[in-house]
Amino acid sequence: MDQIFAPWRIEWVERPDKNEEFETCVFCELPEQNDDRENYLLARGETAYVLLNNYPYNPGHAMVVPHAHIGRYQDLERDVLLEVNQLIQRTLDAMDEALAPDGYNVGYNLGGAAAGGSIGDHLHAHVVPRWTGDTNFMPTLTGTKVIVEAVTDTYDRLYDAFATQQGVTAPAEGAVVVEPE
Ligand SMILES: [Zn+2]
Repeated sequence: MDQIFAPWRIEWVERPDKNEEFETCVFCELPEQNDDRENYLLARGETAYVLLNNYPYNPGHAMVVPHAHIGRYQDLERDVLLEVNQLIQRTLDAMDEALAPDGYNVGYNLGGAAAGGSIGDHLHAHVVPRWTGDTNFMPTLTGTKVIVEAVTDTYDRLYDAFATQQGVTAPAEGAVVVEPE
């Protein structure tokens, strides 16, 4: 039987070189730290933001996260639903430009551990670029330094792709800011 790659099970992983304890919720606290490049925060909208996952074996894996600490998809307000989906579109465009994958997985784990997620009380959409064979994209990496450099390189490539999109501003420091549409 073929092995099935399960991108939904890849959750945000704390950086080994950043031993911060998150007091409440990583997805609530990361944007408040205003340390976007260090935190791999790529783009900020009004009600949601785009975060590059920390998972070392697929550095292109991004998440679109509403600012509101909400776990039930049914509880998202209409403007948040719209902006999350617009940010998914922008993320796909940026990945097309910067990473040129063969395809994507896009979706949610809802309900926490039972659905394969680990942070079930703050929902977030996964955007996972896929390559034919996948194993060719990133060799198995060992060592913290190499892993961090791989993710940082991917961050810079995606950031540049976001920054050239229409309707965004790219501040000298921090994530790309997406103007309301
Ligand atoms: Zn939260």
